[in-house]
Amino acid sequence: MSDEIMTVIRLKFVVQVLLMGLLTMSASAQKKLNVVTTLTDLQQIAEQIGGDKVKVISIATGYQNPHFVDPKPSHILKLGQADMFITTGLDLTNGWAPPLLASSRNTKIQAGTPGYVDTSIGIPLLNVPTSVSREQGDIHVFGNPHYWLDPTLGHIIAQNIFNGLVKLQPANEAYFQANLKVFNATLDTKISEWQAKMKPYAGTKIVAYHDQWPYFETAFGLKIMGFLEPKPGIPPSPSQLAKVINTMSNDGISVIIMSPYEKADAANLVAGKVGGSVLTLATSAGAFKEVKTYFDVFDYNVNLIVAAFQKTSH
Ligand SMILES: [Zn+2]
Repeated sequence: MSDEIMTVIRLKFVVQVLLMGLLTMSASAQKKLNVVTTLTDLQQIAEQIGGDKVKVISIATGYQNPHFVDPKPSHILKLGQADMFITTGLDLTNGWAPPLLASSRNTKIQAGTPGYVDTSIGIPLLNVPTSVSREQGDIHVFGNPHYWLDPTLGHIIAQNIFNGLVKLQPANEAYFQANLKVFNATLDTKISEWQAKMKPYAGTKIVAYHDQWPYFETAFGLKIMGFLEPKPGIPPSPSQLAKVINTMSNDGISVIIMSPYEKADAANLVAGKVGGSVLTLATSAGAFKEVKTYFDVFDYNVNLIVAAFQKTSH
C-alpha cells in the first residue's frame, strides 16, 4: 500500500473515532439523570431546576413523618439506579436514609461524592442546641431540620440542587441556570403574596404539636409559645398537655397547628379545654390532594391560618 492510501485510511479511522466520541457525548448529555430525593419538596424543586434533563422520585411521601419512614426493598432498588441523591441533611432522615444508601451500594451517590447533594449547605440554622443528648429522645441534634418550611430558604435549597446538577451535567449549565432564575422569580412573587396575607397577624401567638415550625414562624412573624410534644419525637404527655393548656389560657392562644401524620387526639383535647381550633397544615408537597407543589404548601397553610385568625378576631 502506498503511503497516500495509508494516510487516507488513518484519517478515516481518526474521523470515525471522533464521530463515535461525539455520538457518545451527545447520548450522555441527552440521558436523563435519575434523581432520588428524601422529601417531596426536594423532588419538586429538583424537577423545576432539572426540567426535562431529570427524572426525579421521592422516597418519603408528602403525608409521611419525614423522621420515620419504613425502608423498603423498592427504595434500595431506586437508589441503586440513581445518578443523584438529594437530602435535607442534618438529622431529619438519619433513621432511614443512611442505611438505605449503604444498602444500595451505589458508589455514585454516597456522601462526599458529586452525586450526593445536601440541601442544608448554607442554611442559617435555628435552634442549634448547645448540649445534646439523644437519650432524651431529641431528634433535632444539629439544629432544627425543618428549614424548607421557610419559603425564603427555598432559594438556598434550589441553589444547592443547581450546583449538584451542574457538577453531573456541566453541558446543561445554561439550561439549569435559566430554570433556577424562573424558580427564584416565581418564589419571590409568591413570598410577597404570602407575607402580605399574614402581615395583619404579625406577632400572633399559637402552639404546635411538634417543633417543626421555627422557620415558618420566622418567615411569617408568628410566635409559637409551646409544643404538645415535651421533646421533638417524644409523644405528648399529660403533664406537657396541662402545661400547654395553661399557656394557651394565660396568653389567649386559640390555634394549635399540627401535621397530617400526627394523631389529632391530644390536639383536640387541648383545643376543647381552651375553646381553640386545631389546624392540620401541609408540611410537604403532597400532604393533601390539593397540595401538589412546594408553592402549594404555603398557599394552603397561609390560607388556613388566615381564615382561623379572621374567625377569632371577630
Ligand atoms: Zn422534627
